[in-house]
Amino acid sequence: MSQPERTISQLKELVQALPTIEQERFARVFKVTTTIGELNPPPSMHDWITRYFGSVEAVQKQRIVNVMNLITVEGALFNELRASRPMETQAPSDLDDIINRNLGDPFCQPLEGTPEDVFGRVKGAHCITASNVAKYDGFHGLIIFNEHNPLHFTAEGVKDYIDTAVAWARKAHCLDNDASYFFFMWNCLWRSGASILHGHAQMALGRGMHYAKVEHLRRVALLYRVGHGVGYFDDLFAIHDALGLAVDDGGVRIMAHLTPIKEKEVLLVSGRLDDALKHSVYRVLKCFVETLGVRSFNLALCMRPIDTVPEDWRGFPIVVRVVDRGDLSNRTADFGAMELYGSTVITSDPFRVAEALAGCLGDQ
Ligand SMILES: [Zn+2]
Repeated sequence: MSQPERTISQLKELVQALPTIEQERFARVFKVTTTIGELNPPPSMHDWITRYFGSVEAVQKQRIVNVMNLITVEGALFNELRASRPMETQAPSDLDDIINRNLGDPFCQPLEGTPEDVFGRVKGAHCITASNVAKYDGFHGLIIFNEHNPLHFTAEGVKDYIDTAVAWARKAHCLDNDASYFFFMWNCLWRSGASILHGHAQMALGRGMHYAKVEHLRRVALLYRVGHGVGYFDDLFAIHDALGLAVDDGGVRIMAHLTPIKEKEVLLVSGRLDDALKHSVYRVLKCFVETLGVRSFNLALCMRPIDTVPEDWRGFPIVVRVVDRGDLSNRTADFGAMELYGSTVITSDPFRVAEALAGCLGDQ
């Protein structure tokens, strides 16, 4: 507790304080640019500014940190003013009522309310699969949770959802051997893009090539290994770890991402899709909901193809990404033109996310 609180606005200084070998590793992957934005508010605004930001001086000079991943070309812009706002995402007080009012939706009776795949359904202990009515790929299915409320997930449930999705992929692959590219995703509540409240995840099994962003990640990781002789994901974890932004959860590498796609993004990386990884996914989600107040999130799990393919996937791990999609009562979207076409603007400080993760994952 004697150490001063680390913040993303001090990232450059924190990197400079690392051992040389760690600084070199950081520089292989990331570039940090710090800049000061200045403005002159009229006296008529002073009261309002003081109320929202603490003081007029805090606004007159604002430190902005631009973090760029030079390998994946993902970028994030952090403003210490924005990051100083409370971390916890607010939830509407009547959220439980809203969710309960939807009881009796088609996913509450999946056998009657949803179609099955041509190879039938896969039934797990806590879920059942369905075929997506409007597909975005030839094999595009749903994991419909037995539990209606999407926030009432358990460790056994999360493991079962992933296991059932993989079993579904195996069935689909038996039907079409060219379909090998498995992708699992979970959109929770409406800000994440989920159109139905009832708890559900989705999975797809692509043909020919993996989904665009996964293929991009494979290519840059491969080039990194060729160029530097080390694994990209190993370096990514080592960099986060050296800065205090990582947790090793029984072999699963968990990072509060330095270039988050949006608020509070956490990466989980593991060599295997085993029970340890599934349990870590559960614990991170629990931490999101119970500690960070997240209600609406996206989760994606990507991995190498489930059968042999021509391109090189050696060394590509299982990568899970989880992101907060913001306040459910906020009508403003969290993604604007800057996020879509420029760099992502981030409010949440990865150091605070890392603290929350360390607190959640430190105790069983
Ligand atoms: Zn339901």
